[in-house]
Amino acid sequence: MEQPIRKGMLLVISGPSGAGKGTLAKRLLADDPTFKFSVSATTRGPRYDEVDGVHYHFLTEDEFQERVDAGDFLECAVVHGHRYGTPRAYVRECLERGENILLDIDPQGARSVAAAMPDCVTVFILPPSYEELRIRLHTRNTENENEINRRLGNAKGEIDQLSRYQYAIINTTVEKAIVELKAVVAAEKQRTTRFFPVIPEKNEA
Ligand code: 5GP
Repeated sequence: MEQPIRKGMLLVISGPSGAGKGTLAKRLLADDPTFKFSVSATTRGPRYDEVDGVHYHFLTEDEFQERVDAGDFLECAVVHGHRYGTPRAYVRECLERGENILLDIDPQGARSVAAAMPDCVTVFILPPSYEELRIRLHTRNTENENEINRRLGNAKGEIDQLSRYQYAIINTTVEKAIVELKAVVAAEKQRTTRFFPVIPEKNEA
């Protein structure tokens, strides 16, 4: 049988800080080798466990602005007081190779990407409650108190953007949420706008 032809999927996930997007993204990337991760650029400083070029491209304000001026970003936005941007070239290269690509970006970025690339798939990850969000942000211990409060303060505004997304997943447990995310991905892979199977005339011998 001839190889089925697939077009790459651009999967955008968003959700408030502490909802568990990062963990879900990591699980999807580990379990589904058809997905690549788009490493964003940011002016935020690295956390103790973050590696430049793996988690983010950590840039100075000037370096970031140079990239903006050069038109290197598919989208960029200020989130929790720092600048973040999606490198355009890598997304384009992946999609041209027929690979799927995952973007973990905020609702402003998701809106820009959806306008530029309307066949992207958008998923919003919710925490089970605001209280749980607060607990998770304190437990993961990656931000100071000011930063946690800023992120909690922005959560309501981000969750208000939910209806702009195609899918919503409540991350009560990672195990449950990853099953739901994979179900979305599995269905979206079979869309006839992305999947062009060619069946042979006869059964294979
Ligand atoms: P964090 O600082 O916790 O890694 O990310 C903070 C927020 O920035 C998250 O909501 C994350 O999705 C978002 N973000 C990360 N990279 C990008 C990007 O390239 N563009 C936009 N618009 N948001 C991003």
